Amino acid sequence: MASQYPENRVLIIMTGGTICMRPSPEGLVPARGFLEAGMKPNPSFNDGSKPDPLPVMTDANTEEYLPSLRTPLSTYSRHVRYTSFEFPILLDSSSISSAGWSQIANTIRNNYSRYDGFVVLHGTDSLAYTSSALSFMLSDLGKPVILTGSQASIFALQSDAVDNLLGSLIIAGTFTIPEVCLFFNEALYRGNRTTKVSASSFSAFASPNCDPLAKISAMGAEVNWNLIKRPTAIAGFKVIPDLDTAHVACLRIFPGIKPEMIDGVLRVPGLRGLILETFGSGNAPSGEDGSLTSIIRAAVKRGIVIVNVSQCQTGSVSPLYAPATVLGNAGVVFGHDLTTEAALTKLSFLLALPGLSYEEITKQMQISLRGEMTETAKLQFSHPASGLPSLTDQQSVFTALGYAIAAGNLESVIQLLNGDQFDLLGAKDYAENTAVHLAAVGTNNDVLRELLKRGASIHVRNRAANTPLFLAGKVGNQEAVGLLREAGAHLHIEEVETVGKRNHDM
Ligand code: ASP
Repeated sequence: MASQYPENRVLIIMTGGTICMRPSPEGLVPARGFLEAGMKPNPSFNDGSKPDPLPVMTDANTEEYLPSLRTPLSTYSRHVRYTSFEFPILLDSSSISSAGWSQIANTIRNNYSRYDGFVVLHGTDSLAYTSSALSFMLSDLGKPVILTGSQASIFALQSDAVDNLLGSLIIAGTFTIPEVCLFFNEALYRGNRTTKVSASSFSAFASPNCDPLAKISAMGAEVNWNLIKRPTAIAGFKVIPDLDTAHVACLRIFPGIKPEMIDGVLRVPGLRGLILETFGSGNAPSGEDGSLTSIIRAAVKRGIVIVNVSQCQTGSVSPLYAPATVLGNAGVVFGHDLTTEAALTKLSFLLALPGLSYEEITKQMQISLRGEMTETAKLQFSHPASGLPSLTDQQSVFTALGYAIAAGNLESVIQLLNGDQFDLLGAKDYAENTAVHLAAVGTNNDVLRELLKRGASIHVRNRAANTPLFLAGKVGNQEAVGLLREAGAHLHIEEVETVGKRNHDM
């Protein structure tokens, strides 16, 4: 029975996971027939209209017609028409590998022109890894790909399965969000920002360094369009399959770790990449006599890409403290705010790309390819081909310093200056203001004091030929005037003349 309202088509790709599991003598195992047994009897998933089967490419050459269902009318005055394609082998997601990721990616590719969106049903254990992997594998994606699962089976009495699946289905069938996303517990996340944080709570995933792309409530979905990344190249959707997970490892640093342990991992035959989970902002013990640093330097020399990510959930790995800088100097790549899942899959992705040099891989690890790291990192290292002027590393970090000064945020100023690699005290903005100029008209004179204590020049003039002292006087910041004078500042002779002339004119 046709409806007068429009419908979008969504392909559900069933890979396994708790959402479809049923009890067996060995415990819960994935069960087939999900659409028929799990969705059809539920009026939230089925408006009873008995739509025709939908065509599904079950591999690159085979088209099959599979039973379809239609949701009741959504808040957006449309239906979602969908079918479910079950993989021949349904997995507990703890067993998924790069081959499974390719299988999902190829299914999306084979059906890309047939559907408006895709929902991938998957166990939660490795869901953040799969979401991250797919985000890199699906290049120039123009349609929503939403991964979800549940903490309890759809056949259980108390379960999150219906909410997670219905939310995913409605978003995939309504909004053209061209990203690989993970939907769980009323929130849509960028897939490569997620991490599993609970083995039992319905709130099983977090995206610690990136806000949700959308939230759903009784009012419907509220999409944060400002956050949505869109493909900017004039290029068609393509799949880059077969990540090289076989030659990467992940190691968590702990107090007392023996350098030989790290060396042992770094000497695994064929190893090409290591994700090092370090403390805080990227710190690791250097080992007695710097032995750990030497081991790492030697591995980098052998061509192993080592990426530094934090064991902390929020914040970023940067050359803030000496140990992180030492690692950086030994050739370790700063992973900024990448999750371990994103770092591992991204490195596996880059290592599998044909013809990428070591330098290119390390460079790409430090820029955002799919929104997997915060954009300030992009500003530091990317060179967009768009023709728009881009900031140098120094300019972008200096901009951050400028905002911190304007906000009077002494702590951030100190942090930026402690990790300074770019001569921030000598840097200038577009109007050739130094940090001291900015602080002289700022809101917190402790910031100015800090800059002066670090030896920042008080005599440098900006493009308008003004000293910081002149600016402080102009805005009436008498405390700054006193401080600058105390530090030896005086008005430039031209300023004296101008002031004198102006006074004379008046
Ligand atoms: N072990 C299950 C899996 O990841 C857990 C889940 O689905 O939540 O497949």
